[in-house]
Amino acid sequence: MPIISELKLAKELIRRPSITPVDAGAINILAKKLKSLGFKCEMMNFKNVKNLYAKLGKSSPNFCFAGHTDVVPVGDLKSWSVNPFSGVIKNKKLIGRGASDMKGSIACFVAALNQFKKIKPKFKGSISLLITGDEEGIAVNGTKKVVEKLKKRKEKINFCLVGEPTNLAKLGQMMKIGRRGSITGYLTVYGTQGHVAYPHKANNPTPVITKILNQISNIRLDRGTKDFQPSNLEVVKINIENTADNVIPAEAKATFNIRFNNKHSSTSLKNKFNKVLKSICDKNQCSFKISYMVSGEAFLTKPNQTTYMIQRIIKKITKIKPKLSTAGGTSDARFIRKISPCVEFGLVGKTMHKINEHVSLSDLKKLKKIYLEILLNYFK
Ligand SMILES: [Zn+2]
Repeated sequence: MPIISELKLAKELIRRPSITPVDAGAINILAKKLKSLGFKCEMMNFKNVKNLYAKLGKSSPNFCFAGHTDVVPVGDLKSWSVNPFSGVIKNKKLIGRGASDMKGSIACFVAALNQFKKIKPKFKGSISLLITGDEEGIAVNGTKKVVEKLKKRKEKINFCLVGEPTNLAKLGQMMKIGRRGSITGYLTVYGTQGHVAYPHKANNPTPVITKILNQISNIRLDRGTKDFQPSNLEVVKINIENTADNVIPAEAKATFNIRFNNKHSSTSLKNKFNKVLKSICDKNQCSFKISYMVSGEAFLTKPNQTTYMIQRIIKKITKIKPKLSTAGGTSDARFIRKISPCVEFGLVGKTMHKINEHVSLSDLKKLKKIYLEILLNYFK
């Protein structure tokens, strides 16, 4: 059997400039390593996106690790202290795009697998990896489609660990057991264009849209729950395309985003907001158009035995008891939770998506240990 080092593999992955949705050979590196460990590797490519479902064993239970090899763009290249795709170590840190989010944690899991197989060449159950090249982008041809395909053929996953960087500053701080939902609303209010000196001959949509935005910003959606912070709406754009100062514009546009907990669904929110829009527009003899983009519904994996086992192991190795949290943005767990309970734990995300993204070498070692112990305990 080969010896797979988490650091070497992380470097190798970072050296592939897999800026979403380009793969640049990253998934093939993993497939090769996993094949050498006896995994059956299945490429699930949709349009221009490469995905991998790799599996060792056939029996139940199936423990799955999920992650993505795509990364966000580097930003201002000149601001980096090293080439973001060279995988350089400086001051006991591995620097490079994807080091934290999340080539580092994938490498830790594969290295842990390598050791697990040495300790337990035979185990009851199976281990799988669901790796996508489309998480940082529109995420249409990645995990979403792989999950649909697995569901169709009744592939059973009993538990899924997602390796996203869940820790804000220190390894061990946080596991994620759910995520808030996200919905974006695109609103246009239509009035009647006219001369600014003859307002009675026109109908200005500007005060109407500001009234709407003010009102929806002040709706208290809920007070939060034991597991979730309160739902929140933010207006992110207001746009009135008007080239003259003596013209009352015909239309005004705005965009708002809502991060919501599991007291709501995207449908219940749409209904709620549409009522407000209609009532204000009716009162002001305006018409409106609204469309929504739902990025994901809110979900929660009620902590079970495996969740607490993972929490115990993290505490044992990092000396910190991780908080079970639902904070932050969305992740691919929003798709996987449709076929399996999901928990997320990975590296420290302090520098993710930033210039000089990095992880400490000691965190990489610890995370590999954590993943190894999770596997040993799960297949006890
Ligand atoms: Zn990520």
